[in-house]
Amino acid sequence: MDRRNVQKRENRVEKKRLFECDMVLEIISVYCHRKHGTQKGELCSDCRALSLYAKDRIEKCPRMAEKTFCSACPIHCYDRERRAKIREVMGYASPWMLIYHPMQFLRHVWYSWKT
Ligand code: SF4
Ligand SMILES: [Zn+2]
Repeated sequence: MDRRNVQKRENRVEKKRLFECDMVLEIISVYCHRKHGTQKGELCSDCRALSLYAKDRIEKCPRMAEKTFCSACPIHCYDRERRAKIREVMGYASPWMLIYHPMQFLRHVWYSWKT
């Protein structure tokens, strides 16, 4: 792969990483709003801590180029407790994303599979 293509690929991976950070925050926000009664766009302290943890994992993810969904990852970099929590959050809030943010959610699915 020549340098220009390497650069293009790196840009695409970083774009995917940023998008994934936004997406996880959005999903946790929907979960927090519906489950914990917070105002839209606000997070309770537990959900804020989870979102910071998830953001940190995504920023350090060594599989960003090829990953689809974290649930299908062979590494599973989340600790046991947070993994169980994020699974619960995703399971609950993902269907709501189709109602609250359908385009963003579908874009997430697209990004997750196309790279
Ligand atoms: S679980 Fe896997 S794909 Fe998800 S952030 Fe961790 S290493 Fe990356
Ligand atoms: Zn919450």
